[in-house]
Amino acid sequence: MDAREMALRQAYGHAVRWLASLSDRRVPARASVEEIVRELGAELPDGPSKAADVVDLLATACEPGLTAFPSGRFYGFVVGGTEPAALATDWLVSAWDQNCVMRAVSPAYAAAEEIAGGWLLDLLGLPSDSAVGFTTGATMANFTCLAAGRDAVLRRSGWNVAHDGLVGGPAVRVIAGEDRHMAIDLALRYLGLGKPELVKADGQGRIEPGALRHALAAGGQGPTIVILQAGDIHSGAFDPFAEAIGAAREADAWVHVDGAFGLWAAVSPMYAHLMAGCSYADSWATDAHKTLNVPYDCGLAIVRDPFAIRAAMGLQGDYLIQDEQGDPIDKVPELSRRGRAFTVWAALRSLGRSGVADLVEGLCRHASAFATGIAGIDGATVLNDVVFTQVCAEFGDDERTERVIARLLDDGTAWISGSTWHGRRVMRISVSNWSTTDDDVTRALDAIRRAHRSA
Ligand SMILES: *Cc1c(COP(=O)(O)O)cnc(C)c1O
Repeated sequence: MDAREMALRQAYGHAVRWLASLSDRRVPARASVEEIVRELGAELPDGPSKAADVVDLLATACEPGLTAFPSGRFYGFVVGGTEPAALATDWLVSAWDQNCVMRAVSPAYAAAEEIAGGWLLDLLGLPSDSAVGFTTGATMANFTCLAAGRDAVLRRSGWNVAHDGLVGGPAVRVIAGEDRHMAIDLALRYLGLGKPELVKADGQGRIEPGALRHALAAGGQGPTIVILQAGDIHSGAFDPFAEAIGAAREADAWVHVDGAFGLWAAVSPMYAHLMAGCSYADSWATDAHKTLNVPYDCGLAIVRDPFAIRAAMGLQGDYLIQDEQGDPIDKVPELSRRGRAFTVWAALRSLGRSGVADLVEGLCRHASAFATGIAGIDGATVLNDVVFTQVCAEFGDDERTERVIARLLDDGTAWISGSTWHGRRVMRISVSNWSTTDDDVTRALDAIRRAHRSA
């Protein structure tokens, strides 16, 4: 065996042992950063070591410092797990080491991206000739879509931002709901658009269409972008797309939807109503590494007008290039990058249409079970309407809720985030892993009850 094969076999052994440990291991990490630094050894060696030994050292030293993110009992943030076909494909992606910039250079990658992109548009109910860019995550997918939108609304005002920059051009208004995700603010900051104007949202975080209409009317007719949300990180709520997009259209605004985890509601007949009207937007950002459960890093930037994304991201940066197909490189901020679409293709090919719907419905079913279980605990209150995968609860006052979360993390059976929602401390449960079972939910609820009793 050569060094590469020995190293791969070493990695394989550690990977399968890690995965096998998930069903029973504590979810939080056991060791601190300092302990892992000590185990790894901070000193750079003078000379080479065997590849397999290095992999073994890394895996052994890091094991106590790993959080069981892919566990069926990790409910902190919205992270997703790793679907088996996608995980194995991700290893191949590293072995293949394709540079995925151009059709002519990696035909295999371009083919997988083309097929996966088409499947995604079909499953998500979005216009079939939209462009799909494969980014690092939803933050960069929002960035990519908003770059396309910024350039498009300025182009309509006669300003070529690709050539002339923002300075001296018309001001771009950006309007978002007050409960948008902070990734939107980051994307706007990177784009030189500053902070968004905020429009009032209701108790579940849904933008109020009347307030949006009012804000649009108050601001005049300049270049405008409206940002909506599919899936509020606390309540799981979806903006009222039909009404909000109607209002934005009247003002000739570009409409972008941040649907990092929520866009996937469209794949299930039980939840597609939450997405009604969403397909009338101009651009949509989502993650494959969340709800679809492919490994990091994989976001999706979807833009109705393929030339708008190419004008913003492509090497040519020209809206007039309409004649050819475009390369993968034309739809994302990076030049060199990983073969992300391979893992998306593998997950979709493995799950099939019904499997993707079952995946989403399973997450929602577990979220409802959490809500029912918590509502039955004396002194606990579920604060949101549980419409999708998110549950927020409190256990008396802020201090008590904090204590319950701390006890739960000490217990280690499950990992659940604390957060602040509408000024209150809450326990926020996000169900996003395909491998979560009914038994995982039962065990996590038992742990919540224990934490509640002892707080
Ligand atoms: C997670 C999330 C993001 C950011 O996505 P990353 O993949 O972490 O960059 C943006 N918006 C929403 C609603 C999210 O849940």
